[in-house]
Amino acid sequence: TMRVAVVGAGVSGLSALKCCLDEGLAATCFERSEDIGGLWRYAESIEDGRPSLYASVVSNTSKEMSTFSDFPFPEDFPVFLPHARLLEYLRRYAERFALRQHIQLGTTVLSVRKRPDFATTGQWDVVTETGGTRTSHVFDAVMVCSGNFWEPSLPLHAFPGIEKFQGQYFHSRQYKHPDVFQGKRVIVVGMGNSGVDIAVEASRVAAKVTLCTGRGAWVISRVFDHGYPWDMVFNTRFMSLLRNNLPEPLSRGWVNSRVNRWFKHENYGLQPEKRYFSEPVLNDDLPSYIITGKITIKPGVKEFKENSVVLHNCPEEEPVDIVVFCTGYNVSYPFLEEADVKVENKHASLYKYVFPTHLQRPTLAVIGLIKPLGAIMPVTEMQARWVTRVFKGRRLMPVSPHPIFSISLRFGLSFDEVLKTDCLVYSDELASFFGAKPNVLGLLFSDPKLAFTIFFGPCTPYQFRLQGPGRWDGARQAILTQWDRTLKPTRTRVTSNSSSMW
Ligand code: FAD
Repeated sequence: TMRVAVVGAGVSGLSALKCCLDEGLAATCFERSEDIGGLWRYAESIEDGRPSLYASVVSNTSKEMSTFSDFPFPEDFPVFLPHARLLEYLRRYAERFALRQHIQLGTTVLSVRKRPDFATTGQWDVVTETGGTRTSHVFDAVMVCSGNFWEPSLPLHAFPGIEKFQGQYFHSRQYKHPDVFQGKRVIVVGMGNSGVDIAVEASRVAAKVTLCTGRGAWVISRVFDHGYPWDMVFNTRFMSLLRNNLPEPLSRGWVNSRVNRWFKHENYGLQPEKRYFSEPVLNDDLPSYIITGKITIKPGVKEFKENSVVLHNCPEEEPVDIVVFCTGYNVSYPFLEEADVKVENKHASLYKYVFPTHLQRPTLAVIGLIKPLGAIMPVTEMQARWVTRVFKGRRLMPVSPHPIFSISLRFGLSFDEVLKTDCLVYSDELASFFGAKPNVLGLLFSDPKLAFTIFFGPCTPYQFRLQGPGRWDGARQAILTQWDRTLKPTRTRVTSNSSSMW
């Protein structure tokens, strides 16, 4: 049997490992920390005797949309998951599929190098370190699942005068607890999810909070139309068909009116700049904090002075004590050779964001280097299902009749722009490579109720377990009961005149 190394035991690593076992591959997962869960466990960690910010982190994606496709979340879990619940789910997943015995905890992967006979064997030399002891292994294939929220990106050169600034500044990754903001004037630079989360936390204790953003962003609430989870309303096959087939101005106009229904972004200083495609931010509190004056939105930073900051198009300087840079993360793979996977300027030459384009053999796969507009779990799982089949040579990569064309069209894409390629379309495409894409039209005749639920209802990951390899008998039932599991945790007081769940 083929031997596969999985680097990391977060969401991506666990699903990669499970998919390897499903395909009968001999997999070993190396995890440098002392337990599984990756980012969701970091969230749990108590630093300086106090829980870090991430202790209060709640998932941005709902449980039905964030689930692995053959393992639904328990009914009684909340719809959006506090990190501890998500971690609990990952632990149950590891237990259910007996993953633990294949995971080596406290083991760091130091290097992954092609063997001299790589062109014929596709094999890799992998060096790991456990408690100071190094071990060399040979693997037939490697799945890189090391995550991309570990290395802060703090481009200080983009902020002239920062060396003169006398206040305190740090990257969002270093943020631990809102106490540091007590009575201070705070500036948060950057408006991604962490930027908004931190601004909201800070404004509970700070004297003043200013959130600076050059680009603006759409802000969406988890609680969407009629109180349903945003992703279950937004990510349906029907909506995706509309989004991707309407003429550009129409679909843009439609999205605009949709996201402005909660509040008009222009009036709150949040309207995104047209020339940027900005990732929507999930936050339930921001507009009410703006309208009550706790947070002020301002344009991007031009330069720093000793005790203040100058903003673009603002005549007055803004006095400030603390600056939090929420400038995101760099992606890096220190254990790989740069020639194998090169990430530059947020671009990586990866076929379908997974396989390095220039290796002679497809035995190295990067899992989870994507930012879908929606949950990451099912997308990484889909990648892993496809990859393990490519490893086995059962499903080779689809060969384009015009390779040059396809290189320029597909390979050069930035993974940051994956949002533009709808994650539903992306998952469908990978699924179609190995026959797991649901056949909605066919179902219309054999099982119309299911077909309608699949087309008009939320695109829950169970849809990809209805047919093909890895088919799961519980998939149909899971789809038909997805709203029951969603409503159960909140419909806790049922009155005699309550409507049915449908
Ligand atoms: P990670 O969770 O980062 O796991 C990588 C693992 O690899 C780690 O355990 C690490 O220790 C290990 N590792 C790294 N290098 C090595 C090495 N050299 N050797 C051995 N082990 C190594 N996504 C969603 O889908 N829904 C959400 O609601 C959501 N909310 C989020 C909220 C926050 C605040 C953040 C920061 C992210 C959120 N995400 C969300 C995205 C999140 O990144 C993914 O959900 C998921 O955790 C990614 O998992 P991963 O396995 O790819 O990476």
